[in-house]
Amino acid sequence: MSLTVLMNAGPWLSVPPPGYGGIENVIATLVPELRRLGVRVVLASVESSSLPVDEKVSVFADGQFAALQRPYNQVCGIAQAHLAWVVRELHSRDDIDLVHDHVEAVGLATLTAMGPSGPPTLHTLHWDLAKHPALYGSLDGGDRVRVNGVSASQLARAPLALREHSVGHVHLSTPLAVDADRRPRPEKGEHLLILGRINPGKGQDVGARLAHRIGVPLVLAGPVGPYHRPADLAAAGDEARQNPDVRFYLDEVAPHVDGDLVRWIGTVAGQERDDLLAGARASLFPLRWEEPGGTAVVESLALGTPVVATSRGCLPELIEHGRTGLLTADEAELDDLVLAADLLDPDECRRVAAQRFTPAVMAQRYVELYQRVREPATAP
Ligand code: UDP
Repeated sequence: MSLTVLMNAGPWLSVPPPGYGGIENVIATLVPELRRLGVRVVLASVESSSLPVDEKVSVFADGQFAALQRPYNQVCGIAQAHLAWVVRELHSRDDIDLVHDHVEAVGLATLTAMGPSGPPTLHTLHWDLAKHPALYGSLDGGDRVRVNGVSASQLARAPLALREHSVGHVHLSTPLAVDADRRPRPEKGEHLLILGRINPGKGQDVGARLAHRIGVPLVLAGPVGPYHRPADLAAAGDEARQNPDVRFYLDEVAPHVDGDLVRWIGTVAGQERDDLLAGARASLFPLRWEEPGGTAVVESLALGTPVVATSRGCLPELIEHGRTGLLTADEAELDDLVLAADLLDPDECRRVAAQRFTPAVMAQRYVELYQRVREPATAP
């Protein structure tokens, strides 16, 4: 296929990300598969990105993630500096067939503002946008700028301006799903795991109280705001409380973290993360927000760990109740479901992941959407 895509990853983290980084992980998973399908990829990211691509453009040397804690106008300023560079690039060359943009709000606004001179653009929505309609004004890029969601439920909740420009959804995937059904069955431990940012929406406080009630060990893995290790948070002092996720952890979760039954181990990566997930008796998602895409959900299935969750956001699309996990609309039922999850078959979870959530499946679907976005532009 002869197609050149400018993949706009944004200025926040390198690709692949050093640890936590949902969007950057999606790009790191998608790009190798696209290239295997013959797509030429120009990555707009930061200089320190190490993902093999056909070409790289960047304005910042390193990821600007720490700046995300600053006031919103400064955050936008950094995104705009990156986007201005991307637009300059697009004006100075004519080999880009399509932009695949991942930069929340600012990316879409900037690329739309290019008007008819801009290339066809697909903007992937990564977040739950229902509460932020103001971030997305009307899209007047005509058919040139389209959006896709990472789940049907995310799109259904998105502001009207986005839904009107949607070309569908693409579920997230994981490299862990490749041949997942052929790997030996992992040894299961006693622990439950919540893998993700410590944040009220992810519900670690609900999980911690549940663990104490039923006496099952719970491991919490993920960053608290900008802090990746418990020691870093402990050393940070009172200033750290300015971050809402830090306040949530200290006030709602930490009182239940006894270092024995409930532990917060900070951010995990690589083999350590995979072993922890594969060895868990179940992954817990006691969600209080509408989870838009749920990478950690598909990773859990790929590693043969059933999911127990509140049925919010994309969970009912990803989990088949009674086969790969157990879902409930009622938080109070989670205790029973955690215990019942021992009856689910880890191999079935891996089989489903190997069919539905491989990077190849995701890339194939994106190529279809790229064609759909380009159709109006290429029509005679
Ligand atoms: N993650 C990780 N280490 C951690 C916590 C999370 O590698 O300690 C990864 C996790 O495996 C997943 C991503 O971060 O790939 C989180 O993406 P998800 O869509 O689950 O949640 P988000 O944070 O984007 O809402």
